[in-house]
Amino acid sequence: MKKLLQGLERFQSGYFDEHRQLFEQLSHGQKPRILFITCSDSRIDPNLITQAEVGELFVIRNAGNIIPAYGATNGGEAASIEYAINALGIEQVIICGHSHCGAMKGLLKLQSLADEMPLVYNWLKQAEATRRLVKDNYQELEGEELIEVTVAENVLNQLSNLQTYPIIRSRLHQGKLSLHGWIFRIETGEVLAYDPILHDFVPPQRSIPLSNFFLGR
Ligand SMILES: [Zn+2]
Repeated sequence: MKKLLQGLERFQSGYFDEHRQLFEQLSHGQKPRILFITCSDSRIDPNLITQAEVGELFVIRNAGNIIPAYGATNGGEAASIEYAINALGIEQVIICGHSHCGAMKGLLKLQSLADEMPLVYNWLKQAEATRRLVKDNYQELEGEELIEVTVAENVLNQLSNLQTYPIIRSRLHQGKLSLHGWIFRIETGEVLAYDPILHDFVPPQRSIPLSNFFLGR
């Protein structure tokens, strides 16, 4: 805690002081350009890896970067998505998974969590499509390889869930929204983005947004 308090002081006399005008501007309202959905894991920091300024990313974080399908729950994710697109007019959504994701490891042994961590179990059950798909289609994989594939398939499943939201469907139809699936690799610092044509995760400069693919542009 002491380290955090020292950090607060350093922030106020350093970064905040140098960016006083920006914070003054932001106090009148936010206009973030990106909805960034990622895991709660402490090793991924959306602003750090994208070098985005304060005010640029609207962030949703939870264990496993899971987006419950529309109507499945009445949680904060749905409300934040609606607010981001409807009120803030955000036109780009990124769902970013990451290597060594503990939530995805948990998903692979879901049943064993039921007793010990029932709340985690209940939450991860919302990624059942990921669990099922991996279980049925990647039987030959194990260890790190299996986790890697689970992380990747989960990003794709959550992108599908995102498209169950009326506001998302509507904006995609208007061509006013693009969706991106990313994976952050903790060990190398690199980000890979889903390319729907190659059906693979590639360096982001080479990938095309999902919406362009759906809309055939
Ligand atoms: Zn994670």
